[in-house]
Amino acid sequence: MATAAITTLDRWFSRYIRLDNVISVGSSGQPYCQCCTCKTIKVWNKLHCGHFINKGEMAVRYDEKNVAPQCYQCNSMREGQAGAFAIYLMQKYDHDVIHYLELKRKTKFRACKATVKQLTDYYRELANERAKKYGIKF
Ligand SMILES: [Zn+2]
Repeated sequence: MATAAITTLDRWFSRYIRLDNVISVGSSGQPYCQCCTCKTIKVWNKLHCGHFINKGEMAVRYDEKNVAPQCYQCNSMREGQAGAFAIYLMQKYDHDVIHYLELKRKTKFRACKATVKQLTDYYRELANERAKKYGIKF
């Protein structure tokens, strides 16, 4: 699978995840998100889309239950804060979510061209819908 196509999919998926997790809107209309692990609040595009189970695990790379807005420090400097991330996920979903993700990570995901395109189209549409709501243009 071409890396460029995966990069594009990652970009749309990340935009969607962050814009779908807006917790407040600033006076200038800027949407804000909260880091799922240290709870820092920042403008949506200053946060990353953090993965609970590493992005290298393709079977859960685009699972919405495996990701959340996360600050650069937690995502990159503190190795994802797995403990705090697990607590966040269990509070947001249920206690089975970690088990679900661990089982799913072992399944086979073939990032073929058609699948990547389908996912890209899907998340592009969802991201654009949410961006429109906040007057954001990509
Ligand atoms: Zn953080």
